[in-house]
Amino acid sequence: MRLSKFHLATVKEVPADAEIASHQLMLRAGMIRKLASGLYTWSPLGLRVMRKVEQVVREEMVRAGAVEMLMPSVQPRELWEESGRWEKFGGQLLKMKDRKEQDYCYGPTHEEVVTDFARNELKSYKQLPLNFFQIQTKFRDEIRPRFGVMRAREFLMKDAYSFHLTPESLCETYDAMYEAYSRIFTRLGLAFRAVDADTGAIGGSASHEFQVLAEAGEDALAFSDASPYAANIEKAEALAPAGERPAPLAALMRVDTPTQRSIDEVTAFLGVPANQVLKTILVRGREGLVALCLRGDHELNEVKAAHLPELPGESELASEADILAATGTRPGFIGPVGLPTSIPVIVDRSAALLADFVCGGNQEGMHYTGANWERDARIDRVADLRNVVDGDLSPDGKGHIRLGRGIEVGHIFQLGQKYAEAMGAGVLDDQGKMRTMYMGCYGVGVSRIVAAAIEQRHDDAGIIWPEAMAPWRVAVCIINPKNDPAVAEAAESLYQALSQAGIDTVLDDRGLRPGPMFADMELIGIPHRVVVSGRGLEAGTFEYRARTDTEARNVTREALFTLLG
Ligand code: ATP
Ligand code: MG
Ligand code: MG
Ligand code: MG
Repeated sequence: MRLSKFHLATVKEVPADAEIASHQLMLRAGMIRKLASGLYTWSPLGLRVMRKVEQVVREEMVRAGAVEMLMPSVQPRELWEESGRWEKFGGQLLKMKDRKEQDYCYGPTHEEVVTDFARNELKSYKQLPLNFFQIQTKFRDEIRPRFGVMRAREFLMKDAYSFHLTPESLCETYDAMYEAYSRIFTRLGLAFRAVDADTGAIGGSASHEFQVLAEAGEDALAFSDASPYAANIEKAEALAPAGERPAPLAALMRVDTPTQRSIDEVTAFLGVPANQVLKTILVRGREGLVALCLRGDHELNEVKAAHLPELPGESELASEADILAATGTRPGFIGPVGLPTSIPVIVDRSAALLADFVCGGNQEGMHYTGANWERDARIDRVADLRNVVDGDLSPDGKGHIRLGRGIEVGHIFQLGQKYAEAMGAGVLDDQGKMRTMYMGCYGVGVSRIVAAAIEQRHDDAGIIWPEAMAPWRVAVCIINPKNDPAVAEAAESLYQALSQAGIDTVLDDRGLRPGPMFADMELIGIPHRVVVSGRGLEAGTFEYRARTDTEARNVTREALFTLLG
């Protein structure tokens, strides 16, 4: 590729609304442009990177025996009624009508469609096991799209779905997918962990998330360097022995019906005058509903909360100092989310542990007005108010737990018979008996990986691509091409030779001065830079610098090819 014929559009300024490094750098490098909330155009540069990721994912899926297909992104309501998810999926499901007033959704995932495909296509156990995959655009109406393509509304996913006669067969494919995912993220040059994940509402027997380790990650992880133990925090909490630490300070007030409590009732229980209540937040979790009642300002001066059944005797007022003293950490805080009620949500140990969704309301209506918020709404910064803390012995006893943060880039699941049963997907076994199939599902966030890689690998000058993801491996930069045709020619011939040797190379023939040209190449993260100059030609060398080198050096043509080979 010649850059003069490409559309490279870098910008110097750090975009004001981009909070994390990957988002800033993707905008500065001109990889993505925002169309609307959670919707991004991938520029030619951005797309080159995403295609590289896609290719690695595809190769490893095929190597692991999966077969590629493509399903529609628009899906009919009827299928989602069959699985029971038309209502249950919640606000992330974007629903629409066609001209005949028929209901559809834009697919956030494809269990229904693939199960429908399988029940029509698969008749006999002899056809099994099968693992179908696609690389396809999903839409989820995320409550809080942010960080650019990291949490977008429209994004590219690789999703795979396997079909089996027996649970044992499902386990085999699940293990193969675990291996394939490990190979994918290793090939992509990412530091990652496969963590044990809760199967939660989806049910099933096993689930692992693949997490790219990064401070900006939205997920909390517990892992050990000395042992293979690794789990996401929900799972780690679920397994932690109960009662070892002080009870969560805010997992306190239980309510049966989340949406119809009056604010009077809540404040009466808590003993806080209604006019002093700034916010009341109900959090529903596995152990029922809890309420948090805030006084003071957004800095969380006071949290008043209580277990409903034991009220009012057990209510206690906890100041930030109390929380700090009891747990060694300050409570986390979530800023306003863009809902009509616009309630900041406090996240503390209990919420992080328990919340399946949050309900919020304020005192303006006198009744408490509740809305079910997506699970995602609760997470901004989860305070480390946990049952599992740094330094705990890992459950296998072989190491100590370290808490870290991660970006979920892949997720594998043993679904069991949930969808096949609900939708009647069966095959005949060797006795001629109809048997419901077992299923697994396996997702990779292809577009999210691009952002995750940058989050993990960048410096002040810009992106540092792993070789496998770089838009080009090598940049050939020409110094002063207009005044020195010999230099332009030499660069052109080097570019041709590298390309012919199968080395993905870009020729920077834009005629920029060295400073801005080098800055661009660093910003867009090209792993290897070769400079062709008049002086170099005289000496019979090129100037070479790896993106991670601190200094450039002069190398001969042969040495260069050896280096890049
Ligand atoms: P998250 O917890 O981040 O919301 P998820 O658990 O809802 O993700 P899955 O249903 O497991 O996501 O989907 C498979 C993969 O798709 C995820 O592991 C992630 O990499 C990617 N993904 C999910 N939601 C988004 C999004 N809004 N933007 C970009 N990628 C996403
Ligand atoms: Mg999600
Ligand atoms: Mg998740
Ligand atoms: Mg997931």
